Amino acid sequence: MLDKYDRDINYLRVSITDRCNLRCTYCRPKEGFSLKGHDDILRYEEILRVVSQAVKMGFIKVRLTGGEPLVRRGFVEFAAAMKKIQGLQDISLTTNGILLDKYAQGIFNAGISRINISLDSLDEQKYFQVTGGGNIHDVFRGIAAAEKAGFDPIKINTVVLKGFNDDEVLKFVELAMNKPFQIRFIEIMPISEVNISQPQSFLAADQMLNIIGKHFELEPINGKKHKSDGPAKIFKVKGGRGEIGFINSVSNHFCATCNRMRLTADGKLRVCLLKEEELDLKEALRRHCSDDELVGLIRRAILLKPAKHDIDCTDRHLKKCLRDMSDIGG
Ligand code: SAM
Repeated sequence: MLDKYDRDINYLRVSITDRCNLRCTYCRPKEGFSLKGHDDILRYEEILRVVSQAVKMGFIKVRLTGGEPLVRRGFVEFAAAMKKIQGLQDISLTTNGILLDKYAQGIFNAGISRINISLDSLDEQKYFQVTGGGNIHDVFRGIAAAEKAGFDPIKINTVVLKGFNDDEVLKFVELAMNKPFQIRFIEIMPISEVNISQPQSFLAADQMLNIIGKHFELEPINGKKHKSDGPAKIFKVKGGRGEIGFINSVSNHFCATCNRMRLTADGKLRVCLLKEEELDLKEALRRHCSDDELVGLIRRAILLKPAKHDIDCTDRHLKKCLRDMSDIGG
């Protein structure tokens, strides 16, 4: 369905839980957040109902995220049930990879073949530090299991923080030389208290590109290689097996082509990651609303979608989101 600005809104990112087995410094504050109760988050059947109705309205893509999706019990069966929704063309998963070794094959067999794995450092100590205690070897095992299971593409999400991991950008590019992965360098967005209190950690995608361009020959990939590349600017690294991409949501936002809506774990349809407008689907679902009413709510949300968010590189000290990223679904 087209929104007020003629964008075809066809991509739903679904946070299936606000819980996570990591505490990434820029994503979730160490204290001061409360986890939702069991009854506060959507049941799997409720998510499936929303997605089925959304698909009837023209949504074709879903990304399952969180929190950490793999910590929610029954994920594999849920993914398999989602795969059965007729008309849904593409289901993907974003995970921190910690539990992937155990679940990769099951998820792949359930019909999810595209995966993004978050990995902000290749150094054991730094990974431990940025994730609040994560074991990098769990992620390495998870990535290996994803390769073995047959996921294609495998994308690695790397949020680049100036003064923390910007010195590792070249190592990540080397990973794309040796493995058929797509490394996606992401600009930090001013969402949680932590990163607004450290605006100096922001590094713009153009600056990352400058660093990499001095050491590697990059060939822009014209047109989209994967249907799934979305707003990322993608390059082939000459002589390498993989690709690199940049997600510059802050320095050069892609709102004009944004086709997304987000379903939060607590059942709110959020029209823009960086704006607070949300419609409460859970309330309607719990009083057994009709499908027509649900479709009406989704339609209203689409029409509420703003032309653009209003963050840029100059106001990075301003908190732009009342919820944390882990709460909304990244
Ligand atoms: N737990 C899963 C994971 O780690 O991939 C899924 C949820 S996580 C919120 C999804 C992605 O959002 C991760 O790649 C994470 O690095 C990214 N993210 C979280 N906070 C961010 C921020 N403030 N700016 C940019 N990316 C952020």
